Amino acid sequence: MPGRILIADDRFASRLMLSALFGGAYYDILQVDRSDAVLPTARAERPGAIVISDWIAGEGARSLCDALRRDPATSDILRIVVTDRIDHGRNATLIDAGADDVIARSCPDEEFLARMTRLLQHKSQLAELQLRDVAPRPSGLAEFDAPFHGPGRIGLLSSRPEAQAWVTDLHKVLGREISAKPDLLRGESELPSGTDVLLIDSETLGTDSTLRRVAQTMRLSEARRPQVIVLSDPNTPSLARRALEMGAHGILHTPFDPDEATARIRLHLQRRTELTRLRARLRNGLRSALLDPLTGLYNRRYALPRLDQLMQEVRADQSPAALIMADLDHFKWINDTHGHSAGDTVLAAVANVIRSQIDGMGFAARIGGEEFLLALPSAGKLAALTLARRIKAEVEGMVTKAPAGQEDLKVTLSIGVAIITPDALIPGSTASKETARFMAQADAALYEAKQKGRNRICGDVDIVTRGGVSPGKLALRG
Ligand code: GH3
Ligand code: MG
Ligand code: MG
Repeated sequence: MPGRILIADDRFASRLMLSALFGGAYYDILQVDRSDAVLPTARAERPGAIVISDWIAGEGARSLCDALRRDPATSDILRIVVTDRIDHGRNATLIDAGADDVIARSCPDEEFLARMTRLLQHKSQLAELQLRDVAPRPSGLAEFDAPFHGPGRIGLLSSRPEAQAWVTDLHKVLGREISAKPDLLRGESELPSGTDVLLIDSETLGTDSTLRRVAQTMRLSEARRPQVIVLSDPNTPSLARRALEMGAHGILHTPFDPDEATARIRLHLQRRTELTRLRARLRNGLRSALLDPLTGLYNRRYALPRLDQLMQEVRADQSPAALIMADLDHFKWINDTHGHSAGDTVLAAVANVIRSQIDGMGFAARIGGEEFLLALPSAGKLAALTLARRIKAEVEGMVTKAPAGQEDLKVTLSIGVAIITPDALIPGSTASKETARFMAQADAALYEAKQKGRNRICGDVDIVTRGGVSPGKLALRG
């Protein structure tokens, strides 16, 4: 439960103090006073965060963080270590061992709580992305599991003379892992694209510039937005709180220590990589849910709601649109004679013809096994029939390589065209009813083309009138 915090501390007074701090912010508090109780309690209670005292006897905070991180039942729980001393090297060790943050006991309440809240937000953002990451991954779409992360870039916004030395220090250590290319930014200069972590030195920039810079960075698109770490004096807790509330991802207390800075930057780089990876998977998942993996055309699931939208556009804009339904002739024969994979090759080739011909005029979908639908906004009869003729002719002239030893494959298409004119829409009817009506109309025209001998275009362009059927049929050969 995200609102529940487990406090692991063997000193009564210290537990009391931490309970008061988090209880006062309306978190539910659980406590353990022995290190060997931490893992079983975490597994059983699933708190949102565990606050571990760096002085807890027994296993110690470092190995507890490591164990919690490695256990799949607890790895997603935040691990925050509270320390009594200011020891940058120790902080770096704890972070490398799996602590999500190390906070000094002397840290004022407002900053402590703001850091906790920000980390919990980050965790819930990750959980949300993971939850949505359930789309199936069809084969054939190359972007899956492609490398998501290029060389990492770190920006440091500081006006102190020693900043260049920090950059050199950071580059030395991080360079090996991420080929960091640090940039020293000055004033209001632009953030170089590809910046993964931005360090803002609030001591030299001052409160206003720091907060403005945080706000500016948060307005960047998710893909461009780096993780922001604010360097702050431990005695300016309200600046730290405000920066975190505005979206900064972490705080690094000055004086600047290269070891601790390195450990924290590395942690933020990992977070950014994880977010980028999950977002990319989500995007691909959404894409693949709408695309047919064999042909790359849209699928039925995408096409139908888009047609509803098209009906609304016809009504609103008072301009016609066209639906074209195309079905391969005797396709079963191709499968039976040459095999399913030859059939697939033909389908993909026909889809390529359709895609290149429709180019910008509308959208195409594979709505059945060997059946395609084309929707053309703002197209009248002439445009629709011209396109249908071109596709028919190109497919007719197409030769697909057959498996070895067999004759090359030739296919033809039967095509049905329906024109949707604004006055043919039934007043008050829903968009999806109109979609179904015009799809049936195009389908009827396609059926007619099959009946009349295939490899032809039929369009019952006059039949779609309000509530009625008129006889004026149009059948076009060649
Ligand atoms: P018609 O001219 O009347 O349309 O005849 P047809 O043989 O094309 O039509 P029918 O509906 O009898 O057969 C369609 C065939 O399409 C049957 C099925 O095996 C094949 N098919 C459907 N989806 C795929 C696919 O994804 N790949 C392959 N290779 N074949 C498919
Ligand atoms: Mg067919
Ligand atoms: Mg069919």
